[in-house]
Amino acid sequence: MDATLSGDPAGRYRGPSYWLSTLDEPLTPRPALPGDADADVVIVGGGYTGLWTAYHLARADPALRVTVLEKEIAGYGASGRNGGWCSALFPTSLTGLARRHGRDAAVAMQRALHETVREVGRVVVAEGIDCDWADGGTITLARTGPQLARARAAVDEARTFGFGPEHLALLGADEAAVRCAAEGVRGGTYTPHCAAVHPAKLVRGLARAVERLGVTIHEGTPVVAIRAGAAVTAAGTVRAPVVVRATEGYTPTLPGQRRAVAPVYSLMVATEPLADETWAQIGLARRETFSDYRHVIIYGQRTADGRLAFGGRGAPYHLGSRILPGYDREPRVFAALRRTLGELFPVLGPDVPLTHTWGGPLGVARDWNASVGFDRASGLAWAGGYVGDGVGSSNLAGRTLADLIRGQRTELTTLPWVNHRSPRWEPEPLRWLAVNAGLRVMTGADAAESRTGRPARRAAVFSRLLGH
Ligand SMILES: Cc1cc2nc3c(=O)[nH]c(=O)nc-3n(C[C@H](O)[C@H](O)[C@H](O)COP(=O)(O)OP(=O)(O)OC[C@H]3O[C@@H](n4cnc5c(N)ncnc54)[C@H](O)[C@@H]3O)c2cc1C
Repeated sequence: MDATLSGDPAGRYRGPSYWLSTLDEPLTPRPALPGDADADVVIVGGGYTGLWTAYHLARADPALRVTVLEKEIAGYGASGRNGGWCSALFPTSLTGLARRHGRDAAVAMQRALHETVREVGRVVVAEGIDCDWADGGTITLARTGPQLARARAAVDEARTFGFGPEHLALLGADEAAVRCAAEGVRGGTYTPHCAAVHPAKLVRGLARAVERLGVTIHEGTPVVAIRAGAAVTAAGTVRAPVVVRATEGYTPTLPGQRRAVAPVYSLMVATEPLADETWAQIGLARRETFSDYRHVIIYGQRTADGRLAFGGRGAPYHLGSRILPGYDREPRVFAALRRTLGELFPVLGPDVPLTHTWGGPLGVARDWNASVGFDRASGLAWAGGYVGDGVGSSNLAGRTLADLIRGQRTELTTLPWVNHRSPRWEPEPLRWLAVNAGLRVMTGADAAESRTGRPARRAAVFSRLLGH
């Protein structure tokens, strides 16, 4: 869409991702906070976490006065930029969760996440949010011996916790290639618990849904401080007995939160729409989301308009948890993503036809344990630390926060991530050294594994050091 026709004259809000650039709606910011105001609940951050929390609060109690304060526009952050996997993934493994919180708690968490994918699908239909939803599940490929071993280990772990093949199936080479005919596939796994979405359509549709429920959203309104009973901005203060922090990767920019999560960048590319003959050779006929069992995550989806949208980590972490628009673009990582796409799908040719490149910060807690919590004494609530798994889990967070804030004790409020307190990250420059050393070790381990065909022990050792 022509940016000048869109109400976003500088094109500022279309630039951050392919998804935002293809929205068929003006991206004119909603009115900013005009001055001091009162609310029952004030939410800082207009991504999925803030908006799902507002949605479930307003549905549960239409009399509640809920206000969302967003620095830019709803969906400006990771929610408008991600890979569009609405999955049941959680950054901590089942084994890790069980070690920390017990086996039953780990199983309950996984079941709640499975149900969450269906719940998001239900709301999308009920609210008429047209977000290109496709219930295709996820295929995770194994293309080397060590990757095959990790696929088997993932299935063994699922079985240990009572999740059968209907939740995670081990695939032979032919079965995997039927779904996704990547080069050199030796096997993989398939789970039905994931839908592909257009992430920006989801977050923007959700913002409209919460407004229909009577929630007030102020955009272009940076919060400069959060304290008990108030969210403070340059234009005025919103006083409310409950203040929710829903700022994920941006959290370290708030006073007192510098070491709460590390903002780690994930970057993406999109191809031009591919020809039907090309898709016939690649597969992904049900728009399955896809990945493989390497250490440094890659993720992709077949978009509704026939592109490959493909991303990965590997961009550097910046000293002092700094976040700048320039960090969304890392030519070295875009080149690596393009190369990887070409290796996976040689049918794309030597120069994979890319039309878009972008990225954004996500939030990583020191122990990789996402959390949601509410301190009744101070009225302060928060949710986040989802790493790359927040599209689905932010919905679970929003439902859980709504229960916690309303004082309800439910199945959700006893899940193990509730009121979990992650340790703070190390002060700088240790944080910078640790995060970037981790990225380097994992990238090196992937290269070594594809060269030698043998597992790289250093990756496992580093994972343990991080407490992942
Ligand atoms: C490139 C990329 C790919 C990803 N792929 C996937 C995927 O496929 N599947 C998946 O599950 N997850 C994925 N993730 C992670 C997922 O997108 C996030 O976990 C999720 O969007 C987090 O939502 P949120 O609302 O908590 O945070 P955000 O969407 O980041 O929202 C935070 C909001 O707070 C606002 N804000 C910040 N500071 C202030 C302030 N001081 N005052 C007011 N507002 C403020 C920001 O502008 C932003 O809009 C990906 C992330 C990235 C970056």
